[in-house]
Amino acid sequence: MVFLSLHKVRAVVIKTMEYKENDKLVWLYTSELGKITAIAKGSRKSKSKFLSITLPLCYGEYILFKGKNLYNLQEGKIISSFQGLLDNLDKLTYSSYICELIDICIEEGEVNQELFRSFITCMYLLNTDALDYELLIRAFELKILSATGYGLNLDYCASCRKRITVSNYISLSSYGGLCESCEKVHGIYISKPAYNSIKFLMKTPMDKIYKLNVNEEVKRDIRKVITHIISSNYSKKPKSLEMLNYI
Ligand SMILES: [Zn+2]
Repeated sequence: MVFLSLHKVRAVVIKTMEYKENDKLVWLYTSELGKITAIAKGSRKSKSKFLSITLPLCYGEYILFKGKNLYNLQEGKIISSFQGLLDNLDKLTYSSYICELIDICIEEGEVNQELFRSFITCMYLLNTDALDYELLIRAFELKILSATGYGLNLDYCASCRKRITVSNYISLSSYGGLCESCEKVHGIYISKPAYNSIKFLMKTPMDKIYKLNVNEEVKRDIRKVITHIISSNYSKKPKSLEMLNYI
């Protein structure tokens, strides 16, 4: 007798790839199993029941069984297709980017329900109109950095450990602010409002990020710090945001 181990998960399709003649490989970021790879057999046939639930950005409930190497998709039900994100180039770029971050920064099978919740909230908020998308993305980047061991320490000097309330310098080798007396090396000067904003973005849940209101200069400082940490710590550099430089 063969026992199949079935899993029911909530997940977002973060990446897909055509496989063999009719199949598709689907990378799912799940609440219960972390990031996993599944095969959706026959999903490229025009009448496949998997057609809509294996589209990138789709958020659904999936039933899978674990094969020898891959999970095998059995059934799925859409919770939100997030297709509204496809109508707006900014929204599409940002949502593709957070999926790419999950793909690059998170190891397969690494479960983190809090990060999953932030991810889903971020997708829902991108799907609305009343927000500063850029700050939302920065907040998510900071959450993924913390979740993977690159979180910034902004309450103590990263060099001498003295308690600090604010700083104008972030050390990129020790991931934190430096006090006035410590030597400023291997880091970036930023404005004090930018320092405080990073602190706010790190500590605030995604659905409260809208309370922060900052100017372009502050945003540039925040972007500089985070982009540097992301591009120097993971094996691949995210590409999705480069698109925004051309529009
Ligand atoms: Zn110090």
